[in-house]
Amino acid sequence: MTQHQSHHKAHHDRPHRHHYDAEMLSVEEARERILSYFERLEPSEVDLLDALDMVLAEDLVAPFDVPPMANSAMDGYAVVASDLAAASETSAIELPVAFSVAAGQVPDVTLKPGSVARIMTGAPVPDGADSVVPFEDTDELERRKNGAQGEDRIGLKLAAQPGDNIRQAGEDIAAGEVVLKAGTLLRPGAIGVAASLGRNSVQAYRRPIVAIISTGDELLNPGEDHQPGKIYNSNAYSIAAEVKRYGAVPLMAGIARDTIDSLQERLAEALETADMVVTSAGVSKGDYDVVKDVLAKNGEIALWSVRMRPAKPLAFGTLDADDGRKVPHLGLPGNPVSAMVAFEQFGRPAIHVMMGRNEMQKPSVRAVLDDPVNNYDGRRVYARVVVYRSDSGGLRARTTGTQSSGALTSMAVANGLAICPDDVAKIDAGETVDVEMLDWPDEVFSGFGP
Ligand code: AMP
Ligand code: MG
Repeated sequence: MTQHQSHHKAHHDRPHRHHYDAEMLSVEEARERILSYFERLEPSEVDLLDALDMVLAEDLVAPFDVPPMANSAMDGYAVVASDLAAASETSAIELPVAFSVAAGQVPDVTLKPGSVARIMTGAPVPDGADSVVPFEDTDELERRKNGAQGEDRIGLKLAAQPGDNIRQAGEDIAAGEVVLKAGTLLRPGAIGVAASLGRNSVQAYRRPIVAIISTGDELLNPGEDHQPGKIYNSNAYSIAAEVKRYGAVPLMAGIARDTIDSLQERLAEALETADMVVTSAGVSKGDYDVVKDVLAKNGEIALWSVRMRPAKPLAFGTLDADDGRKVPHLGLPGNPVSAMVAFEQFGRPAIHVMMGRNEMQKPSVRAVLDDPVNNYDGRRVYARVVVYRSDSGGLRARTTGTQSSGALTSMAVANGLAICPDDVAKIDAGETVDVEMLDWPDEVFSGFGP
């Protein structure tokens, strides 16, 4: 069952229902169409630490056993277990200490029965030894108290069994084994595994470059002096921040004025390197909304009404780059909240596809609403909420003030988007809703590997 269907089911018994406009695309339909234009990008060699949260593009094969040799799991004494059959807490067996092995050393002496070797954690177990007796099971402490310096003899109080306190060669990973398959998401543990195989870089599907162009005669860049009639270009920053959060590389491609020339100039620059172009504003029906005209001329464009609130108007298409590539273009609405919510629903999964990830659904939780969410016109509502744990332990969701699509502060403090389905007119306070968690990584399982 898709997420979409589950919303319907969850709200089946609600009294407030209305019909939605079937001419508009659902979020799922729009997303499916958009994602059909994207594919996984090529792999590149990435410095190990930079590969965090990328998807592995090669099988990682162990060139050697891990651990590479049998080694001690404890600080203590390497012994021949059969020497100690009669040892116990009350009757120590005293043996000569023949030599000692530290971590990183390779002992070239064989341990002879009737003697022991002092050994440190991680040090290779010498030939001849088959067990390690930890310090705690010897009389070393008593000897020290009595002033002994380097021990040439030691009392052992444990009837050691062969294999005790020894980590065998290849116990974790055997040479030749595929340790991590191509397609694995590189979590911190996977980065560690690659390092343990001696790798300082890996092949991973590369991060897309996402060019961001804002359009509008009213826009000023942050840092410029405030001017009457103008507003600051916040969309480029909120969208670039989302691009970064989802692992891609934002390319700040500037502001285009509401003229065809200006937009074409910005686009030409962006298309030199971008894997995807995101524009904001200029896709509604106003006189100065030139984005649609330019795109129709320089590529292929579809303008859609998506059955969602905020962010009904959405443009999507491809742009022709000089080198012949067709670069996908996502045209976001200009309203700051609409731009962000639309990017979450359509831009984020596109980045995931390019990076080789296959989980598209934002993880959601069920939470009890503190205040009602209204749906005036049969679109899916994404209400900005703060999800918090109530005193009784359950999750609750409080809306973040005005739900106007221009009020970016409502998005700034929100950690979730509460969903009111297309065909539900109102969800009352006290009812339970699905909330997409904005700050959580994508789904419980990501990557197509194990
Ligand atoms: P438009 O889609 O051009 O009609 O813009 C819708 C609303 O979003 C208008 O109030 C614009 O001023 C505003 N807006 C457009 N672009 C941006 C931007 N880059 N940053 C902040 N607000 C914007
Ligand atoms: Mg405009």
